[in-house]
Amino acid sequence: MFKNKKVKPFIEFNITEKCNYCCDYCSQGHLNKKYPNQLNNATDEVIEGLIKFIKELGQDYEVNLIGGEPFCHPRLIETAKAIAGLGNKIMLITNMSASPLLYKQFIEATNNKLHLIHGALHIAQVKNLDKNIQNIIEVKKLINPNTIFRICSVVEEDTFETLKYIESKLKKEEIEFIFLRCLKSNGRYSYYSKQIEDYIRPKEHQYNRDIITNKQTDTSKVMCFAGYKILHINTKGDVLRCWSKQSKNNFEYFGNVKEVNKIKLFKKAMPCFAKNCNCNHPTTQNGYYYSIFAPLYRLIYK
Ligand code: SF4
Ligand code: SF4
Repeated sequence: MFKNKKVKPFIEFNITEKCNYCCDYCSQGHLNKKYPNQLNNATDEVIEGLIKFIKELGQDYEVNLIGGEPFCHPRLIETAKAIAGLGNKIMLITNMSASPLLYKQFIEATNNKLHLIHGALHIAQVKNLDKNIQNIIEVKKLINPNTIFRICSVVEEDTFETLKYIESKLKKEEIEFIFLRCLKSNGRYSYYSKQIEDYIRPKEHQYNRDIITNKQTDTSKVMCFAGYKILHINTKGDVLRCWSKQSKNNFEYFGNVKEVNKIKLFKKAMPCFAKNCNCNHPTTQNGYYYSIFAPLYRLIYK
């Protein structure tokens, strides 16, 4: 059914592909190990273009700064400051490895416009766990009470006890800890032992549900606001519909922030042309919906 949905406008900006970690399950982590020189930072020109683009779009757009690890970009803090200076809210996805001093500078630069810090702990990469936990607690003391601060980590049988330990330490400081479920390629959860299930199921986080909804959605019958109200911008400044290819080889491309005047976005929600959705944001942002007209709509699309 067509419904008039309210979608929170949202930009995801990949400020850097670089990361100080080399997680086995991450394509960037893999490249970081083998070909670190192939990973890019957004250039000055891209950052200036992004700021101009956000200014044109308006203050409604929340900007999610992602990497790689965003703190690997030398201009992360000043970029965040410029975005906050326009009045836009900011989200940061980080592996929580930067020093509390850098987080302090980031938090100050965002000047109460920091909506959320999402910290993903990659246990295998953390060298000194207690120090890392202490740093997280320091960051919590620095943030505005209105900023959402949550830490998550993927549950594996052999790290489960460590995660429980982290959870207990963070709980004392009232920091939310999310047990993130591992997904299989068919979009179903991995199986865990009864002991783990009994522990994590009662505290199942919406984040896990969103990931499953996203993976199991048949996007061939979906109308999506990505490309209209939800955008992904890569380190080159390309403005893309989302993380998923919309035809055999191509992402939907709307232009580049280096030429803001040439960017052409959709003017409304459009059918999704990807077989599967790899983007979590439309689910969390209420950004797609089923439509009986979507297959028909595809025939006249473009
Ligand atoms: S910390 Fe994140 S970006 Fe970096 S290698 Fe690990 S999963 Fe990839
Ligand atoms: S892949 Fe996901 S985000 Fe992209 S257009 Fe389809 S439903 Fe929307």
